[in-house]
Amino acid sequence: MSSSSRAGHPGRRNGGKGHRCLQRHNQQLAQHRLHHARDERIEPFDICMMERAIVLARQAAATGEVPVGAVVYRGEEILAEASNNREASSDPTGHAEMVALRIAGRNIEAWRLQGCSVAVTLEPCPMCAGAMVNGRVGRLVYGASDPKAGACDTLYEITTDPRLNHRLETIGGVLADRCAGLLSDFFRKRRAERKKARARRSG
Ligand SMILES: [Zn+2]
Repeated sequence: MSSSSRAGHPGRRNGGKGHRCLQRHNQQLAQHRLHHARDERIEPFDICMMERAIVLARQAAATGEVPVGAVVYRGEEILAEASNNREASSDPTGHAEMVALRIAGRNIEAWRLQGCSVAVTLEPCPMCAGAMVNGRVGRLVYGASDPKAGACDTLYEITTDPRLNHRLETIGGVLADRCAGLLSDFFRKRRAERKKARARRSG
């Protein structure tokens, strides 16, 4: 449902008085900067977008998908938002970022996403990082690091590799604890459910 269209940011409907959530986000931003002194590139709107990505990730978890959410935006205009839908779509490329990039391209009728930012709750994998390079995305803002597949800082540095023909400003660790918490809760619950199911079968 939410994986479509150019939804305006709710704060923008607030009579032009700025974002309802801005004050809270400024506090979160201050906290983030305490831990990530080098990340003065982060804007309050990036935090808003990460909050939105977290909501999308939660929606994924509710339907049994690994909870990852992504938003593509340009300035303060949201071009696309998506959740991971690999299970529902039986699509190995159904990562939140891939789905969001496709929607964004359709919305602006261009494959070049120059000047666009992507906020995603988990560090992108090689596929998604590669798609962002190919799509000429301007900025990447991600939440939790991914020790198993992270391709932007952890295992590879695809989005900033000078050998490739395009590089993105890459900022990790934004609301990282909450983003990581969604994933660890999801996998903990899933392990418990599988254990219960095994016990039922053998009992
Ligand atoms: Zn991916």
